[in-house]
Amino acid sequence: MQGHGQTRQQENQEPARGQALPLAPDEPGRHARWAAAGRQVYARAARAAGAAGRALSRAREQLLPSACVLCGTVQRHVVCTPCAADLLRPVRRCTVCALALGRHRHCPACAASPRAFDHAHTLGDYAAPQDQLVLALKFGHALPLAAWLAARLAEGLPGAWAVARHAAPDLIAPVPLSPQRLAARGFNQAWEIARPLARRLGLHTDPVLLQRQRDTGSQRALDLAARQVNLQGAFALTRAMRLDGLHVALVDDVMTSGATLHEAAAVLKARGASRVSVIVALRTP
Ligand SMILES: [Zn+2]
Ligand SMILES: [Zn+2]
Repeated sequence: MQGHGQTRQQENQEPARGQALPLAPDEPGRHARWAAAGRQVYARAARAAGAAGRALSRAREQLLPSACVLCGTVQRHVVCTPCAADLLRPVRRCTVCALALGRHRHCPACAASPRAFDHAHTLGDYAAPQDQLVLALKFGHALPLAAWLAARLAEGLPGAWAVARHAAPDLIAPVPLSPQRLAARGFNQAWEIARPLARRLGLHTDPVLLQRQRDTGSQRALDLAARQVNLQGAFALTRAMRLDGLHVALVDDVMTSGATLHEAAAVLKARGASRVSVIVALRTP
């Protein structure tokens, strides 16, 4: 019995580095012990690789130069500190649609078009030069920009929610692309922003909460009324489910007129969502 006890104790002990495993070739149970020892070796290797990866990532950020997407200055980040400060300078915005209000006391965009969403947050205006943040992400496949935008959004959102006096959303979801657009681009820029954003904020996310039923094409040439007609029935929930009482946040790269986000938010509200917030990297002024 004592021998059996020692064997079990040995099974639970991690072999010392460089020490041969105490296994006789014909010892019963050696395959199980080899497997356990192998798992421990792999676990150690995975821990070491994870630590090395994090150290490499920090070293790359510290040492390797990067050209700022907006001004080209060679420094350490995808966007340099002065350009980031320009983008993030505080601007008085409509709390519902994030339009920069300028001299307006009330939002002309919300007066012209009621919104199905309740609150919107953005980093800045979709205007030169900072429109390059989205253009380089979407059309230049500069995916690190999505993580950078998500990090800046995550810094500002808790304060924005506190000002709006509501809690963080229960669920974060991206505005979906049509299957054709997704296949052509290879990624959904809204999801590339939403995923690291949810991780930073510790919130649940669902990449396929909504689906786009059809490709609505470019809406650039359409006025607001034509956009709303064009978007009718464009979105649906992917699964038969209710969202009763939930606060859902929709993420997109840019809000232009707000027609797309209105239509998507209306679908969520029709399924019971009590509140819909909008989080966009940039907002057309
Ligand atoms: Zn710059
Ligand atoms: Zn507004």
